[in-house]
Amino acid sequence: MYIVTNVSIIKEGFTMADKVVKFGGSSLADADQFKKVAAIINSDPKRKFVVPSAPGKRFSNDVKVTDMLYKCCELAGSGIDFTNDLAAIKERYNGIISGLGMDMSLDEEFSIIEKELKARPAKDYAASRGEFLNSKVLAKYLGFNFVDAADVIIFDTKGNLLLDETVSAVRTRIKGLDNAVIPGFYGRTTEGIIKTFSRGGSDVTGSIIANAVRAEIYENWTDVSGFLVADPRIVENPDVIEVITYRELRELAYMGASVLHEDAIFPVRSAGIPINIRNTNRPEDAGTMIVSNDYDFSRESLGHTITGIAGKKGFSSINIEKAMMNNEMGFGVKVLNVLYRNGLSFEHMPSGIDTMSITIDTAKLEPVREKVLAELRKEVEPDNLYIEDGIAILAVVGRRMKNTRGTVARVFAAMAHARINVKLIDQGSSELNVIIGVSENDLPEAIRRIYDMFINSEK
Ligand code: ASP
Repeated sequence: MYIVTNVSIIKEGFTMADKVVKFGGSSLADADQFKKVAAIINSDPKRKFVVPSAPGKRFSNDVKVTDMLYKCCELAGSGIDFTNDLAAIKERYNGIISGLGMDMSLDEEFSIIEKELKARPAKDYAASRGEFLNSKVLAKYLGFNFVDAADVIIFDTKGNLLLDETVSAVRTRIKGLDNAVIPGFYGRTTEGIIKTFSRGGSDVTGSIIANAVRAEIYENWTDVSGFLVADPRIVENPDVIEVITYRELRELAYMGASVLHEDAIFPVRSAGIPINIRNTNRPEDAGTMIVSNDYDFSRESLGHTITGIAGKKGFSSINIEKAMMNNEMGFGVKVLNVLYRNGLSFEHMPSGIDTMSITIDTAKLEPVREKVLAELRKEVEPDNLYIEDGIAILAVVGRRMKNTRGTVARVFAAMAHARINVKLIDQGSSELNVIIGVSENDLPEAIRRIYDMFINSEK
């Protein structure tokens, strides 16, 4: 079905030569952004499959088209007139169409949307129209085929994605097509009802399409030049991470560092397809490559010991002390049972011979705090039991730490120089990360010091 020269790998009958490119809302917020997107696509003939988001914010207090659509649906659901709100959305698209000098009318589409919202104001249907319309405009502008996501992205009736069905629907639908623009964010259930992913879900669509066409790479174009080593609100002008593995990404994302929808990882990871985060406004930047462990890392130019640092506030530590705790059979089980009965999961549990500390999300602990304390007193009869709040957890993540001696010592030297008290230490068996707990007030300084120690001093 593909006629491609220079094919290096052939998997399941698909050639690994095409690129799937997803553009986020800010990349398609107005006509000027559309022009940048078209230039990017046209500069590489491998960029054949395009997944757009709905128009995002053009300036900081602008409203995303998706949010405007949710509002229309809400008004429609309450029986309030929404025609002005819908007209404002149409204006956004018409601004793009005229800015691109195109001859295109969305009158018919908008009258269908209006009728549908009046008859059945369904939230997912309403929100999906942002991507649907943007894809129509982009497809026409590029001269590409439009493929409706409702025909290819399939959910079960509970709203879970059916990956196998989806992959085969995509393959059947694009058979013989040289290119396609496929709207992000939505699909349909097996009963034919429009269903969206959670917010930011166009990332997921892109990943699924990349899986289905066995793409060489999944390029995710956004408004930043990749993942940063640390939060730019804390570290001034941090480096961009050149290459990160899926596992490292998960560690950092869990700590709140996020550019990509969480569910966008699985479909490409399982197919061994790398993701490249790119900046539509700076296409010359290489961005961040997200890869599997078997990637050829020698292609990377920089090689710091650590890949990234991220921190998260809002944790509490339940501290339990009891003489001879280490000799008491089942002590840990009893403690964990109390947590289990109260529906609490824990983040970390460092322990000593007579002490045990359990780090828990404060917000989850709050409703059952007194009950948990009472049950622990009863179950394990501790000598001392107290909760310390206001703890931040910081993860220093890096695949190279495993083979580099002295990493943990450097983390602690950085803390000691800054006179930051470390309340908790945890190094997983994978040696992929070092977790430390500090007081919330110390978190920004802790991150800056570690950045200096590992990034600035290794330059
Ligand atoms: N337009 C949707 C949102 O605003 C989906 C996306 O942009 O990925 O969440």
